[in-house]
Amino acid sequence: MIYQRPRGTRDIYGDELERIELINRGAREFFKLNGFTEIRTPTFESIELFVRSIGLHTDIVEKEMYTFEHDKKMFVLRPEGTASVLRAVLENGLKPPCRLLYIGQMFRKERPQKGRYREFQQIGVELIGEAAPFYDAECINLAVRFLDTIGATHYFIELNSIGCPVCRQSYKNMIENYLKPYLPNLCSDCQRRFEKNFLRIFDCKKDSCQKIYEVAPKITDNLCEECGLHYQKTKEFLKKFNINFEENKKLVRGLDYYTRTVFEFKLKGLGAQDTIIAGGRYDLLVKELGGDNTPCIGWAMGVERMLLALPELQPEIKKSKKFFIAVIGESLFDEGVKLREMIIKNGFICIHGNPLDKIKTQMKDAHHYKVDYVIIYGEDEAAQGVYTLKNMMTGEQKKISQNEIIQFIEQCQ
Ligand code: ATP
Ligand code: MG
Repeated sequence: MIYQRPRGTRDIYGDELERIELINRGAREFFKLNGFTEIRTPTFESIELFVRSIGLHTDIVEKEMYTFEHDKKMFVLRPEGTASVLRAVLENGLKPPCRLLYIGQMFRKERPQKGRYREFQQIGVELIGEAAPFYDAECINLAVRFLDTIGATHYFIELNSIGCPVCRQSYKNMIENYLKPYLPNLCSDCQRRFEKNFLRIFDCKKDSCQKIYEVAPKITDNLCEECGLHYQKTKEFLKKFNINFEENKKLVRGLDYYTRTVFEFKLKGLGAQDTIIAGGRYDLLVKELGGDNTPCIGWAMGVERMLLALPELQPEIKKSKKFFIAVIGESLFDEGVKLREMIIKNGFICIHGNPLDKIKTQMKDAHHYKVDYVIIYGEDEAAQGVYTLKNMMTGEQKKISQNEIIQFIEQCQ
């Protein structure tokens, strides 16, 4: 019997892993140049951190967290990055404003589907301690420019404002009155959301519910004066940045901590898994976690989902020529070591065979690793002061001098 990986997880290797690492490297470089510092937090945290920040009545906390007990304390594999980053900012006394980038695995107990896994990677950014609407637009602008650097197009941006607790209080009565007669027609999730976390009904993925919400009053049309101005100014800055966006008054986020601006980057034709970046403002979260009043805005990108959705974006992986060194006999070992160093220094891949193996076995290994060239160095070669170079693509084989081999490697493309 062969063991199988847990459902909803993936083994990533070869070209796919290289592509992911290219994107990760691209993110590190791009965000560093935009004044960000990378932060790495633990993959597990105390359960209270997420209950406190994400909110008790959210999909994540209600049913998606992997929890475990240790030393009579409950922990969770982190389902998202923002709460951990803010915990780290407070615990390490980082002084806002600060710009942080995180790259790492997240874990959610979800029903596995294409683009929806139980372990997945996010790249996320947080602008901590920034209240002005310029930063809402800048945060979106950074995502646009980052996607540009990695060649992603074809997406569209949806924008909304979900106001603050003041706007929500007055809006709550309005939506409750409107929805009362429709309650029996809503799905069971929405009936629960309506009781516990009413804004989240709009997040429902069922058409029957969405039809009802289409004509319902929206929070965006009922913002308090300050939130209304903030939203207006954010849109003005986005236009100044030349960023196209669509307003979607039904856009809310699944997490409790969002205030005012929320946004998603989506792709057409991806079904329910169409969001590659999601984010927004969360002005109340730092205080909720015990810090001073610190307005923040940020977003997170699902890396696997983005790669799946944008095959044309798959960065070209530069294939480097591959060498195999077949030294025959222990006494010639030093020569092989020197050759390998030189090949690697020139930026090529080099595998060193086992000098105690016969030439036949070493050639078999070279075939197995699909190398481009084999350099053979055995007793004959040593006696004549030459190397045998075999081109594995053409099968051609010739004896060349030390100088020629150096030249060959240096000129190899
Ligand atoms: P969804 O509505 O798709 O469940 P979400 O609101 O739970 O998304 P966020 O918590 O905002 O998503 O996460 C940000 C991004 O991370 C998503 O837009 C998506 O690209 C990615 N993501 C979220 N959950 C998963 C998952 N289970 N598998 C792969 N990627 C995911
Ligand atoms: Mg989700």
